[in-house]
Formats: sequence, structure tokens, C-alpha cells
Amino acid sequence: NGQSYRWQRVLLKVSGEALAGDQMQNIDPKVTMAIAREVATVTRLGIEVAIVVGGGNIFRGSSWAGCSGLDRSSADYIGMLATVMNAIFLQATMESIGIPTRVQTAFRMSEVAEPYIRRRAVRHLEKGRVVIFAAGTGNPFFTTDTAAALRCAEINAQVVLKATNVDGVYDDDPRSNPNARLLEDLTYQEVTSKDLSVMDMTAITLCQENNIPVVVFNLSKPGNIAKAIKGEKVGTLIGG
Ligand code: UDP
Repeated sequence: NGQSYRWQRVLLKVSGEALAGDQMQNIDPKVTMAIAREVATVTRLGIEVAIVVGGGNIFRGSSWAGCSGLDRSSADYIGMLATVMNAIFLQATMESIGIPTRVQTAFRMSEVAEPYIRRRAVRHLEKGRVVIFAAGTGNPFFTTDTAAALRCAEINAQVVLKATNVDGVYDDDPRSNPNARLLEDLTYQEVTSKDLSVMDMTAITLCQENNIPVVVFNLSKPGNIAKAIKGEKVGTLIGG
């Protein structure tokens, strides 16, 4: 069982951009398969894994709001629907390698997935199933990072593991500044006051208020997802 590992239940946040990999398509099947394989190794160890998927690879509400009269709320609903597409893709990939997986959506789409029911989600996790939470929080004006923090608190997961395309949080943009330093440990305070672009303010303060640590790490490095879930040192740890 998971007793000997740092976390017994984790919330893995996979952004839409991470799912796109370096492909021109919206989703890179190599990425979804890599995620599935690594999640499989840790669920076999008894660690419970819930996932929140983003949708930015398909549609980001904030960048479309205003176009052709599209109001922000409508744009955000389209964005939330995009996360459902990613969730179903990821579920199919996981089940193809034998991981029992349930998708729960924040608004009803009962022909496609279960509605979000907290106690039911927890029961699935206890039975060793992976639960993918789709459609964010179900509300416009929020992000899937906030959904990750919220679901983490609701299901009593011990950590938000934020999978990105960079190694962690830097003191400057590593793409433009070769001397940018990777920061291994940060407080919530440092993240918010230095305006380090880790998560939006709503998400990070929700984590802070509920004492949920956040690990930011690179999912494109093989083995990193499993490492992060097992509680091994990887990327940046935010807490305290
Ligand atoms: N979204 C929303 N409410 C939520 C979560 C997401 O309205 O609770 C919408 C929003 O338009 C967002 C899009 O869904 O741009 C995709 O989510 P996000 O940008 O968080 O995905 P990621 O950046 O992780 O790919």
C-alpha cells in the first residue's frame, strides 16, 4: 500500500499545453501514453491519483472573449468543454493499458461521464481507480488550476502536482535568460509577492488557505510524473 510513500492521495494537474507536447495537433498521443504509463506504476504501489485536466491546447476562454461578440462566460464554457475532450482522451489511453478510470464533469454530461459527486470520487480512489475531473470548477472566470486546488481540498488529497513544460519555477524566464535560476523551495508568500507566474492568484491562495503544498515540475522528462507522485524531489516545492 501507499503508506511508505510521502503522499497517499495526490491531485495531478495536467495542463492542456502539456498534452499538446511539441506536436502541431492539439494532443500528442505520446504524451498521454507517457502519463498513463507513469500513473499506472504509482497506482500499483497503492497511491491514489486524481487528475484535473486543462483545456488550453484546444480553447482558452480569455483569449477568445470579445471576438465576434463572444462574451467571457460563453468563451469560458467552450474552454470547459475543451477540458472534457482532453479528459476523455486521457481516460481512453489509461484504460487501454488497464488502469480503471472514471471521468467526472463539473456540469452534467451524463451520457459521456459521471457528474462530479465528491463522495463518489473518493470511493473510486479508495478502490484504486483514477478519477479525472473535467470541466474545471464548472464556473466561468475560473481556471483549471483553481479547479485543481478546489478538488484537492475537497477530496482531501495531500498535494497539487502541477505538470508543466518547464523544470519548475525560475527567478526569471529561462527561455529568454540563460542565467535564470531554478527555485527549489518557495513559500506561498514569495509566489504571490514576487508575482512568479506559477498559478493564478485564486488558485495559489486557495492552496495557501488550506495548507496544500504545490509541486511544479516538468512532465516531458521521462520518470518525472512517477517521481512527483511518489514524493521524490523534483521541480519546485511551494508551501509553508
Ligand atoms: N475554464 C473555466 N472555468 C474553470 C476552468 C476552466 O471557465 O473552472 C475555462 C477557461 O476559459 C479556460 C479554459 O476553460 O481558459 C481552459 O482551462 P485552462 O486555461 O485552465 O487550461 P490549461 O491552462 O490548464 O490548459
